[in-house]
Amino acid sequence: MMNMPRVGVGTDVHPFSPGRTLFLAGLEWPGEDGVSGHSDGDVAAHAACDALLSACGLGDLGSNFGTSDPRWHGASGAALLTETVARVRAAGFEIGNVSVQIISNRPKFAPRREEAEKTLSEVVGAPVSISATTTDGLGLTGRGEGIAAVATALCAPRD
Ligand code: MG
Repeated sequence: MMNMPRVGVGTDVHPFSPGRTLFLAGLEWPGEDGVSGHSDGDVAAHAACDALLSACGLGDLGSNFGTSDPRWHGASGAALLTETVARVRAAGFEIGNVSVQIISNRPKFAPRREEAEKTLSEVVGAPVSISATTTDGLGLTGRGEGIAAVATALCAPRD
């Protein structure tokens, strides 16, 4: 039982903010409305961070990268994920995989799914799978008010 793997879960939501550039799953999305937030608002990367931190008992994005800390103001989702992975490894964990689901009407994700998975897998150093869904017009994402993402991660103590 000593080296049992541990799962974690993470969620993130940001509201659309027309005029800003959209960053999602480590990619820039030209022509799509961006979102508002303390950082670049990459919900997929942020949910992945929270899932990894949760799996390893390391708190969450807020406790690791507080909004009052100027070092992380405007940090990209990929940068936060890079630092999260470093903290997970420093705490003695290896990452098995991360799974992310984006919940939104836009952007149409399928055409860039492989590119996004490759990008975030390289950041994490383990497989990151990313899917996308809509909510049939219901809720804040269904009304087109923002983008949400949920993620799970599997990590295991190194020894
Ligand atoms: Mg966020």
